[in-house]
Amino acid sequence: MTADLLDGKRVASEIRAEVADKVRQFVHGGGPQPCLTAVLVGEDPASQVYVRNKRRACEKAGINGRTLRLDAGISQQKLLETIRGLNDDPAVHGILVQLPLPTGGNGGKGFDERAILDTVAPLKDVDAFSPVNVGLLMQGRPRFLPCTPHGIVQLLHRCNLSIAGKHVVVVGRSDIVGKPMAMMLAQKNGSCGSEIANATVTIAHSRTEDLRDICKTADCLIAAVGVPEMIRGDMIREGAIVIDVGINRVGEKLVGDVAFDEAMEVASAITPVPGGVGPLTIAMLLHNTLLAAQLQLHS
Ligand code: NAP
Repeated sequence: MTADLLDGKRVASEIRAEVADKVRQFVHGGGPQPCLTAVLVGEDPASQVYVRNKRRACEKAGINGRTLRLDAGISQQKLLETIRGLNDDPAVHGILVQLPLPTGGNGGKGFDERAILDTVAPLKDVDAFSPVNVGLLMQGRPRFLPCTPHGIVQLLHRCNLSIAGKHVVVVGRSDIVGKPMAMMLAQKNGSCGSEIANATVTIAHSRTEDLRDICKTADCLIAAVGVPEMIRGDMIREGAIVIDVGINRVGEKLVGDVAFDEAMEVASAITPVPGGVGPLTIAMLLHNTLLAAQLQLHS
């Protein structure tokens, strides 16, 4: 078997065009131009690239993408005050704190990341990290959906794949990907209806015993681990859908968490790295920024 490639780049550009269209209609209807402010602390080169890409994507969608650059030496208290200022600024609709925060920041003591993310106003929390937004998702009445898992839901939907009633194994339980992914797929109704929901979900992690056997039972296997190519071909069920969230730099190359060539032989469909899940994350961030502007207009 040779798996079909799930083209995240194509689906992301489709979503970005739809968002750009909706932004035009929103502004035409008297709404303000949506504005996303990225808070970038320190000089981490990868974070600078991510923030620049997000800003460019905003511009193309008609969204005002601002970057607030702060010195790594800024104190926790000053950073919290800055975020509260953005919360109170009616011209800012979405706030994104670029992670990771520099380890030596806050005068060498390091930042309390949780406290910083908790300070972002829930209505401006376009990453959906705040406890309010996580709680709403948990209860099946989400406001913002976290960008990477939501991108995966959109990809499955737009590639006409259904996971209702199927066994999904999510490897990884981070707050950003694994946990919300599992929660979204286990709901009765998702953002793309009941077919990209209603799954029987297993969450695996670094303490999971018999990981290979568990993965092998998956109709849909989602790897969000951060270990290059750890999911081998013999861990994948014949005909499974494989979603590779991992982005790992190995030398000059970007590789996923799945051994791609081996998986191609067994899976029925698979996301490539790069060009799979990555582009969808930014597309869903744009979607959330427009949603934030719409919600604030009516709040
Ligand atoms: P993370 O916070 O480091 O979480 C990794 C998870 O994998 C943890 O739950 C960990 O288990 C589990 N794990 C680690 N080693 C394992 C092993 N040998 N067997 C089974 N489980 C194991 O990472 P993350 O933020 O979720 O990101 C995961 C990957 O996705 C990274 O490569 C990241 O760069 C990528 N990513 C991509 C996008 C995108 O847009 N495509 C977005 C976000 C992240 P424990 O909980 O037990 O430690």
